[in-house]
Amino acid sequence: MRYGLSFLLCILLLPLVAQHDSLLNAYLASIRDNPAELTAFFQQMPKGGDLHHHYSGSIYAESYLQAAIDSNFWVNMVTLEVSTTPAPKTSDWERFSTLEKQGLLDLYREKILRSWSVKDYPFQADLPPDQHFFATFGRFSEAKSDFGPGSLSSFAAGLLELKHRAVLENVQYIETMFTGVRCPEAVLPNRYNGILENLQQQKKSDALQDTLAILYNKIDVSSNACAAAYAGLLESLHDSLQIDDDHFTLRYQTFAVRTVPPVQVFTRLVACFMAAEASPLIVGVNIVAPENDPVSMRDYWLHMEMFRFLHHLFPNVKYAMHAGELTLGMVPPEELSWHISEAVFRAGARRIGHGVDLAYETNPYALLDSMRQRGVAIEINLSSNEFILGVKDGRHPISLYRRFDVPMVISTDDAGVLRSNLTEQYVLLATRYPEFSYTEIRELVFNSVHYSFVEDNALKASLLARLEAQFGAFEERVLR
Ligand SMILES: [Zn+2]
Repeated sequence: MRYGLSFLLCILLLPLVAQHDSLLNAYLASIRDNPAELTAFFQQMPKGGDLHHHYSGSIYAESYLQAAIDSNFWVNMVTLEVSTTPAPKTSDWERFSTLEKQGLLDLYREKILRSWSVKDYPFQADLPPDQHFFATFGRFSEAKSDFGPGSLSSFAAGLLELKHRAVLENVQYIETMFTGVRCPEAVLPNRYNGILENLQQQKKSDALQDTLAILYNKIDVSSNACAAAYAGLLESLHDSLQIDDDHFTLRYQTFAVRTVPPVQVFTRLVACFMAAEASPLIVGVNIVAPENDPVSMRDYWLHMEMFRFLHHLFPNVKYAMHAGELTLGMVPPEELSWHISEAVFRAGARRIGHGVDLAYETNPYALLDSMRQRGVAIEINLSSNEFILGVKDGRHPISLYRRFDVPMVISTDDAGVLRSNLTEQYVLLATRYPEFSYTEIRELVFNSVHYSFVEDNALKASLLARLEAQFGAFEERVLR
């Protein structure tokens, strides 16, 4: 590093720690306009944790595709669906081995990668960005079966891929939204859906809580044993793969999908809370699927009430929530005014995922103050928000969160589908928001351990100590 004499004289008058940080801040400022320099810098920087990412969207499409090719699945050459069995009576389907013999495998490999991710988007895409993004999950779902449904052991390759990528880019902890709890759901009378919807329409919170208590008592016993069994399977998979070691730790969130009827959402959430209570490896619960889906929008308030109910029963179970992953034009504007605050105040979420429509909230300043006071962290997903919502640069509320000192973490959301990684999120942060100094960015990294859902204090302390040591070595390398 080279600095002018006057800069060095100013630096010498500062206490040692401040001198150290001034040099690092100056170094980041000197490379801020150069994406290649920034990439090299942030690639090497220890990045602590990634607290918001989805297992299936974090696996790169190449892995799913290779598994499908190795198993010689069928491909629909028109729709690019992949299946273990072809649909009846159609000549559109061929096996991968046939495509290979015909010299067409590379062509279809490229087409499928584009269909299963945002690679080369919008080339060959027939949907707008948000629909293309969410459609990818259905397209690779059958190939994913080698990584998924059935026994949990089929997740081994995916978990190891996530670990491998994290370690390579100096990420020491990840909190993965893994799967829902796979339990047979208690069959409850359908009329409860209507009852819950009615209470929601009338915003009768107390009566709703009473109804949820009745439902809970009906599903309690059957779910508990199954949730505990799921937690046990997850623990044995985790241990057998030796995921945790001296350099890396993985913990899991489980989740419910928000686009199904209310009773089903509730039943699944109950199983999630039970599983999280049963295993120290399942550190949190979430709710997923597009927030602008008609059912998600209709039942949003109801879902917040469900979290409130379950929090009283399971006060030790932590939960983060996708909230405010919306923007103007996606839904009517009045719908942008309340989701984050309901997640914070009604549901009591410990962290908010995305929170992009913050500026449209009825009282954004009061909400930001409350988030800071309550220590509710915001999970920032820059690539995801840019692709799915078209929100970036000054349209993104990150500067508002910063100005009100809301604890913030940087995360990837779906690095596989989005063809990105955590390093790139820091590059975007430094490029687009020069108000973040190196000192602040390092603080964000420490936040990613502080605001993780790790329960075990000794584990958290060791993650923080390791991070401190990693930063020491990294900064020495930068300043040498
Ligand atoms: Zn997400």
